[in-house]
Amino acid sequence: MNDRFSTTELRVSEFERYSRQIMLDGWGEQGQLQLKNSRVVIIGCGGLGNVVATYLAGAGVGTMSLIDGDDVELSNLPRQIAFDRDSCGLNKADELTQRLFSQNDDIDIHVNPLFLDVDNVDELLQEHDLVIDCSDNFETRRLINQWCVTNKLALLSASVIGWQGQALLVLPNSEYGCYQCLFDVTSTQENSCQSMGVNPAMVGVIGSYQANEALRFLLKLPSKLSSHVSLIDGVHFSINQFLRTGNPNCEVCANMKEPNND
Ligand SMILES: [Zn+2]
Repeated sequence: MNDRFSTTELRVSEFERYSRQIMLDGWGEQGQLQLKNSRVVIIGCGGLGNVVATYLAGAGVGTMSLIDGDDVELSNLPRQIAFDRDSCGLNKADELTQRLFSQNDDIDIHVNPLFLDVDNVDELLQEHDLVIDCSDNFETRRLINQWCVTNKLALLSASVIGWQGQALLVLPNSEYGCYQCLFDVTSTQENSCQSMGVNPAMVGVIGSYQANEALRFLLKLPSKLSSHVSLIDGVHFSINQFLRTGNPNCEVCANMKEPNND
């Protein structure tokens, strides 16, 4: 823990930088301090990660950890807006970190240019207030979900494919279940941007939605995503929210509920 976590007031330059958001209902000086004292980890620095990290850094989230072992490719540039031609061949987490520092050097960024796996997940995800899943494959999403449920950390998950996206917030010990309750654990089909294609503008939509929900969580404002899953369709531009129910046979979360001692 560094001194940042004991911050109890904003500097004059921070009041100026964040003035347009501090004036919002539900935000204020206290909310800005909460953001400054918050620690988030973002897994995946591709399309969603670019957008989420940019808005959270811009909004003044004090400590961010970025994880991605992938390098930027030419086919990423339509939707991965933090990168340019000079980024190609370079690591995404490194490149995104450079971009964020030029945007806001008042925040701490921990860069991890590697892929999340079972061996490093403990070390990389612990000691954060919110885990933000911007990864692009089921295997990683399930690993993150398993870790968050087991370690009782809040998980904000989103994904986008084609013209559609989805988002949900999994809170510890939630009666509304976890990510794996919703998505077939036996499915071996992997839909990815690589195999299915993706509309770059929808990556911006879903990433902005995910950033908004992350800010609401850190500001301790209620979110419908804690009990619902949102499905966003970019063809007709509709957002449908469905109440989630925990799967009583879920191998990840079914046995994690603790007896209520109140
Ligand atoms: Zn579950």
